[in-house]
Amino acid sequence: DFRVSLPNAGKDELGELSMAIMELATDLETMKTERNEFLASISHELSTPLTYMIGYLKVAMRNELTDEERMEYLKIIAEESNRMKELVKDLMELAKMDELSFTVEKTYFSAQRFAKELYRLVQPSFELKNINLTILCEKDFQLFADPLRLEQILLNLLDNALKYSEANTDVTMTVYEEGANAVLQVSDEGIGIPHDEIDRIFDKLYRVEKSRSRTSGGSGLGLAIVKELVEAHDGVIYVESRVGTGSTFIVKL
Ligand code: ADP
Repeated sequence: DFRVSLPNAGKDELGELSMAIMELATDLETMKTERNEFLASISHELSTPLTYMIGYLKVAMRNELTDEERMEYLKIIAEESNRMKELVKDLMELAKMDELSFTVEKTYFSAQRFAKELYRLVQPSFELKNINLTILCEKDFQLFADPLRLEQILLNLLDNALKYSEANTDVTMTVYEEGANAVLQVSDEGIGIPHDEIDRIFDKLYRVEKSRSRTSGGSGLGLAIVKELVEAHDGVIYVESRVGTGSTFIVKL
């Protein structure tokens, strides 16, 4: 508790001053919250690729693998580590800027190749949990997006499909062109999302109550980040889901 004495200040000036200080305090509080939320997003984004890399390491440690197979897995782990390095580099750039938002650098790249690489990356984690993953991209076309960000989007969606599904179910990712749009969708046969909660799952830190006890470590940030990244591409994301039947997340760019 301290007092400031301003010799020439009248009642009005003091009132204004204390108002200004209170506004400043509110601003600082908001900045602190934004910063904390941003830090939480970063941690989440770094842990998603790590989850897949740990899956790969577990598979690579199996005894029955040939040297060649093991080498293939190690190569993928190295590639993904590089991608994480890129991500960290981006985040450092972001930290230097005032604006705490994601940047998007769009380029053209093959949808089929993107789908194939994604499959290679996530398949081992699905195999470990005995979930049958299919990635379909029947007709090749050019995607116009930021490849790293698009990978982040789909890793998050696939990670959720994996987290909220039981063994011996199917997860399917489909990539196709629809008019001028690219559509990427991830379907699972997992626990589903209650109808009245669907609107809220894209909110920061929101988690469906029931899923909380089922799985460990979810932060409720993944879908908020996904939505931000999709919107940074001027795209839309929505979900169709039914409890006990499964969910389909649809991204349109
Ligand atoms: P979390 O880290 O909790 O998975 P998300 O933001 O990714 O955070 O998801 C928010 C909530 O939406 C989850 O807690 C879960 O209840 C629900 N959810 C997301 N994806 C699925 C899915 N594929 N199946 C069922 N529920 C899901």
